[in-house]
Amino acid sequence: LVPAVHRAIDTVGWGSGASPLICGHGAIHAELERQLALFEGTDAALLFSSGFAANLGSITALVGRGDAIYSDAKNHASIIDGCRLSGATTFVFPHRDVTSLQGLLEDSSAFRRRLIVTDSLFSMDGNLAPLDKLAELAEQFQAILMVDEAHATGLYGKDGRGVAQHLGAEDGIHLRIGTFSKALGSIGGFVASSQCVVDWLVNRARSYVFSTALPEAAAAAGLESLRLVREEPHRRTRLLERSAHVRSQLRQQNWDLGSASSQIVPLYVGTPQAAVELSTKLRQEGFLLPAIRPPSVPAGESLLRISLTYGHTTDSVDALVSALESHRPRP
Ligand SMILES: *Cc1c(COP(=O)(O)O)cnc(C)c1O
Repeated sequence: LVPAVHRAIDTVGWGSGASPLICGHGAIHAELERQLALFEGTDAALLFSSGFAANLGSITALVGRGDAIYSDAKNHASIIDGCRLSGATTFVFPHRDVTSLQGLLEDSSAFRRRLIVTDSLFSMDGNLAPLDKLAELAEQFQAILMVDEAHATGLYGKDGRGVAQHLGAEDGIHLRIGTFSKALGSIGGFVASSQCVVDWLVNRARSYVFSTALPEAAAAAGLESLRLVREEPHRRTRLLERSAHVRSQLRQQNWDLGSASSQIVPLYVGTPQAAVELSTKLRQEGFLLPAIRPPSVPAGESLLRISLTYGHTTDSVDALVSALESHRPRP
């Protein structure tokens, strides 16, 4: 990505100068939006300055007073803030619980527009959302379905589009949110959707209209990372295989890893104190496993998050597994 950024800076400079609708939207932004739509298989795509801005701007543009939102209990903070700011009535359903969601949808038919919103791969516990079932419910109850693929873009699905592709649920999803900040190794959020929705967001999403566009060099990095996703699919298969391997080794050591199976491997340790203590010890041994505590997770569910990447060598992963051996929970 670095040479791509250098080349762009040398030709178009650094700052974009203004919000997209004034004059901040350049040729590289336009090309990235075109490539994003091709990548996602949607009519159109729209770039935001971050994933946070994409969620906040989209939710508040789609629903307002008199509308209803159905939001998974473990959704990302940017979704939660979007729900709050929108003024819509928000129903929080228990994590990945489609039965509860169905009950809520049945009991709240009087609202005007209804929006179901979920992460596709939850950033703290590594679980996948049941997108196929959510898509069925959205269709049955004529709700809009918005899915945040932040942690899955570039990693899940045959073409790396995310969990929706992995589960075959893409057709039932109306808006897909992504970010360049996770697997794509850069910065910038996006929405992929129909042309009609994208046109609406261009006019209504306040975090798009009233915020300076990303530097074009960041868009150039985005183009390069999409190319890598397209042309080097072995990166994502290798990472998911390695994650499965690490999980099975850590299970044998008695760690509580929850039920997930993604590249995010949580080690549940209980209290914030236990999490900080273990994280500090591992740091001294050369491993960065951040302690995740309330309010990022509910009380009692503090954890150390192992975020595996393609760049980790077999040796470093093996070294982590043996370091954890000496700290493992005793039965
Ligand atoms: C990281 C993340 C975001 C925010 O994306 P940024 O580009 O970092 O602002 C949004 N949603 C989810 C699920 C995330 O994990």
